[in-house]
Order: sequence, then structure tokens, then C-alpha cells
Amino acid sequence: MTGSVEVVYRGIFQKHLGQRITRGIVLAAWKEGKVGISFGRYGDSPERNGIPAKSFAVVADTEEELQAHLSRYEPNNNDVTVAVDDTLCKGVESWAWYGLQPINKLTRPGGTVLVTSIQTPEELLKDCHRKDAEWNVAVIKGTASFSGLWVYKDDHTDVRVLGAIAKLAPHIVKLESVEAIIREEWGDELKVTSARKSYDRVVVRKVRPDEGNPEKPYEFQLLKWWEMKEGLVIPGIPVRQQAEGWEGGYRPGRNPTFKKFSTRTMRPVVDFETCTKCTICWLQCPDSCFDVTPTGHYDANMEACCGCGVCEAVCPVKDCITMVNEQAFEDNAGQFEMHQKDPAAYKAWLTEKIKDKVITQRSHGFRYRGQYEEEAAHMANSGDGVSGD
Ligand code: SF4
Ligand code: SF4
Repeated sequence: MTGSVEVVYRGIFQKHLGQRITRGIVLAAWKEGKVGISFGRYGDSPERNGIPAKSFAVVADTEEELQAHLSRYEPNNNDVTVAVDDTLCKGVESWAWYGLQPINKLTRPGGTVLVTSIQTPEELLKDCHRKDAEWNVAVIKGTASFSGLWVYKDDHTDVRVLGAIAKLAPHIVKLESVEAIIREEWGDELKVTSARKSYDRVVVRKVRPDEGNPEKPYEFQLLKWWEMKEGLVIPGIPVRQQAEGWEGGYRPGRNPTFKKFSTRTMRPVVDFETCTKCTICWLQCPDSCFDVTPTGHYDANMEACCGCGVCEAVCPVKDCITMVNEQAFEDNAGQFEMHQKDPAAYKAWLTEKIKDKVITQRSHGFRYRGQYEEEAAHMANSGDGVSGD
């Protein structure tokens, strides 16, 4: 019998976390006399900050079964899909797919999407796309674990995920073998306790095919080889694109197919009333995301923004740009248009979005010096994620 798990993670920030989980699965399976392999789907490519990436673990009873399973391009019928950041439930996009891939696309019918989140399964289902079969969503309570480039932030997310997998897919690994490899690999009894608590506490909810986000995921077709031009021809993109109804304003030229919304864990919310039109955000945004509005304001385009937070950091006006957790939004609607339609309603919307520090305080990497120390102290005080009661 074979089984497989895919871990979907934020490139670079969660790379070590993804690897530790899939490696842990294989080591635990070996304890049970099985064979297995873990590998990164994009390990040989330039993995980039925040871009969704994957690590797989495949486990089988025999070498032959394992080889048969690995003969396909990638495991596409996974028993468990792990999302170690709940914003990935909106779908994942990378250069390897043509559009947005639903988080449950490679989960087998009856399989489970396991998410680390402080949201409930019902809340997560607003984002997870519908599937043609029954599946499950499971939650381990906790915020997304971001380790940054070189630091590994050990908040026990790795072993908590392993404990939950033992509960959800015991034919892949059993709790006893997970505990045994944690002792061997990490030599930490507290981590064993965390895995066991996660095994006991993971919340699972069945999902029917008519439940979940009904939206059709964004997709596009690449040119077929016979449609390509001879030689190397890359059509240029105009520097300015005229947006309809935006006379006097314009959109900077952008790649019309590669959209970056799934890269984002946070998005900027702009207060157009306090904005002084100083142009700094527009100049500094590394992805040229700001559309120039007819009134001379700058509107972050939500199909282009990768959520890096540079605009918030450089804006000289207090609270004029605030980065807010992506989970607080259900669409990619333009903020300036909303403001133009009803400034008072926009103000109320903006105030509500930025006031909730639970959702605005979230690490998507490190935005300022000392942030890691602050977060570590906060986690230690709140016991978030670690095995305390
Ligand atoms: S967060 Fe701000 S600076 Fe970064 S890509 Fe988005 S709009 Fe640009
Ligand atoms: S940096 Fe701030 S104040 Fe300046 S244009 Fe951008 S939003 Fe307005």
C-alpha cells in the first residue's frame, strides 16, 4: 500500500519547515518497516520569498510500489495536503502552473487538507475551492510559522503537523513511530508532547462537493509549440495602459497572465484621505503595483501586489498604508474605486480592516530590525503553537 503527503509552504520563509515535515514522515515510516522518499517539487529552481512551493513524502510497503508511485510527474492523489499558512487556502500560483491551483486539487477524494490556522474549518471553506468529491478539512490551531531566511523558528509546528498526520492517515505513519523519531531526531520530550496533543486535538470536518468557494479558479493557456513565432520573440508590454474610465490616470504595463495574488500573505490598505500624493510608494514598489488614479492618488492593484510590505514601510504618513492579513479579504477589488463610490463607507471599511491587531500583526518575513525577537517573546508569553495547555 502506498500513501503520500504534500506540504504546501511559502517559498524560503517556510522551506525548512516543509522539509522537516516530509523528512519526518519518511523517517517514521521507516520505523514501521516501510520505504519512502521525500523531495521538493521546486528544489532545483529559484525558490522565492513567499511564492508557494511544495515538499512531498511518498511511503510504500515495498520498493516496487514506491517506484510505481514515483513514475508520475508528481504525486497527484495525496492522502493529506498540508497548508502551513492558511492564506494558501485561497489557491496557489507559481510559474509551474497555468493559473491558480486550488489547495485541494491534488488531494485524493476522501483525503484531507490539513491547515495550521486560528480560523475554524467553516471560515477556511470560504477560501478553499469546491471539489467534485467529498474531502475533509482539518485544523491545527496556531498561526503560520515563518522562520525567515536563515533562522529556524522552532515553535513545534513541524511535530504538531506530524502528530496530526498520524491521526489523519495512520496507514502512512502511526503516532508511536512519530514519537520515536522525534526522540531520535530532536531529543526533545516537549516536542513529543506537542505531537501527541496535536494528534488528540486536531479538528476534522467533512466537506461535501457543494461546499467551499464556488469561484472558478483563474487560469490561462500557454501558446502551443506550433503557435510560437520563429526565433526568440518576446512581445514588449507598453509602459502605460489606459484603464477604462480613468482618463488622466493609467496602469503601468504588467504581465497580463502571471498574477501574484497567491504570493501574498498580507495586503496594503490605503487611506486616500490622508495620502499626500508624495509618490514614494509608487516609486518604491518593487512590482510596479500602484495604478495612478485620475485624482493623482496611488492605488495598489491587487492582481499585481505580492504583499512585500515595502509601501507600508516607506509611506511617510502615519497609518496611511497598513498591511493587513490576507485572510481578512474575500476578493481582489480595487480600493480606489470603492473609495470613489462612497468615501464614508470606504473609511468605515478601512477602519475595520486595520483596527484588528490580531489580523494585522503577522509576520511575512521580517519587516523591521528586532521583529524576530518581538515575535519570539510574544509566542513565549502566549504559548501560541507550543504544547502548553
Ligand atoms: S506590498 Fe506594497 S510595495 Fe509590496 S508589492 Fe504590494 S503594493 Fe508593492
Ligand atoms: S507613500 Fe503614502 S502618502 Fe505617499 S503617495 Fe503613497 S500612500 Fe500617499
